[in-house]
Amino acid sequence: MERLAILVLLSLRICSAYPLHGEMTQGHPSMDLAQQYLEKYYNFRKNEKQIFKRKDSSPAVKKIQEMQKFLGLEMTGKLDSNTMELMHKPRCGVPDVGGFTTFPGSPKWRKTHITYRIVNYTPDLPRESVDSAIEKALKVWEEVTPLTFSRISEGEADIMISFAVGEHGDFYPFDGPGQSLAHAYPPGPGFYGDVHFDDDEKWTLGPSGTNLFLVAAHELGHSLGLFHSDNKESLMYPVYKFSTSPAHFHLSQDDIEGIQSLYAPPSFDATPVPVLPVSPTPKTPAKCDPALSFDAVSTLRGEFLFFKDRYFWRKSHWNPEPELHLISAFWPSLPSGLDAAYEAHNKDRVLIFKGSQFWAVRGNEVQAGYPKGIHTLGFPPTVKKIDAAVFEKETKKTYFFVEDKYWRFDETRHLMDKGFPRLITDDFPGIEPQVDAVLHEFGFFYFFLGSSQFEFDPNARTVTHTLKSNSWLQC
Ligand SMILES: [Zn+2]
Ligand SMILES: [Zn+2]
Repeated sequence: MERLAILVLLSLRICSAYPLHGEMTQGHPSMDLAQQYLEKYYNFRKNEKQIFKRKDSSPAVKKIQEMQKFLGLEMTGKLDSNTMELMHKPRCGVPDVGGFTTFPGSPKWRKTHITYRIVNYTPDLPRESVDSAIEKALKVWEEVTPLTFSRISEGEADIMISFAVGEHGDFYPFDGPGQSLAHAYPPGPGFYGDVHFDDDEKWTLGPSGTNLFLVAAHELGHSLGLFHSDNKESLMYPVYKFSTSPAHFHLSQDDIEGIQSLYAPPSFDATPVPVLPVSPTPKTPAKCDPALSFDAVSTLRGEFLFFKDRYFWRKSHWNPEPELHLISAFWPSLPSGLDAAYEAHNKDRVLIFKGSQFWAVRGNEVQAGYPKGIHTLGFPPTVKKIDAAVFEKETKKTYFFVEDKYWRFDETRHLMDKGFPRLITDDFPGIEPQVDAVLHEFGFFYFFLGSSQFEFDPNARTVTHTLKSNSWLQC
């Protein structure tokens, strides 16, 4: 029912205007558009007392920044030309409030076979073209999940698909040509799961007008439980863009990870077992697999994070049983298969490395301005990737391990220390000159290599224990 609350909220019209940095005046068309956009897609509610405030901290400026962040624009808080240009583009009618990959409460279909019905048709296209565009759009999701779809021609289907103009019986009237193109409801009974297309658009099969397949694929993502993504490459990004013809369309990794977080990868039970192992989608790792190795290990605000492929285990002091999550469920723009990660405690940030790039996250937000190149940290061009990284709270130094060497970085001065790199074996006797991940805890360094883990005492300069890598995961 939370969804309904959002829709009811959106139906409230707030008609007066607010000034922004003094640039906009009442009744200015740009400001009206901005206000409507923020109300409609970002749940902006004007507080009467704030009308004449012209501060950077005003709710309007904050909302503009929130929108700019979500849409991948520079967060100026002003209605600059880039922002206005993007606000004029056609888009999905579902709001961007949230910025997560699923709806609040993560509603999903509790069955794998789902019915749909095309209730009526647009006059813009032959019926068969509409049928086939919808069928192809469902295929997009069918290929990466265990879900199957079948069409019914009468009665109540799970997903009722219709074309409508203006007011059409929900709290969410369409707006004529342009702007809002369609909307859809998350999974559930009744109108939930349904898709409405604005028939004031010119629906097409190609790049001109509004491509029915692309919009349908996006809206059906909502019908299955995906919310908007702030990843520009994602099908679930809210702004419409004709990027590729339907024949060459592929879901982004972000979309796949999002939908599989709800429904898991497709099952292959019905197909014969292949002679050679094939891995169409990466397997979910098992925490007690004796061969388990980690890509990267870090702390985050008192918890431990163990990264593996597209996943990570999160272990908190309150819950001894580690939880497995998709990386994309917390940080949709991060890649999978990470190289290294460490928490810079003094900055409340976790730095995440893959290849020649790194990202900074604070809590579950990826910081603006990333990824950056690793060479901005002072590595020579010969360094192509980082194997492992660890921050030492006491000294505020970060150790970066690259093949058989390590560098030391001063987090206070934000500079590499002089005299590095040094050989790992010279300063960490007993540690192999190649590491997967490192953790610093209880005054020890824990070096991970394959399924083994070495506890190293920096004062005694010796390995004090050899453990299995997954010794942290209650195995
Ligand atoms: Zn949408
Ligand atoms: Zn509707």
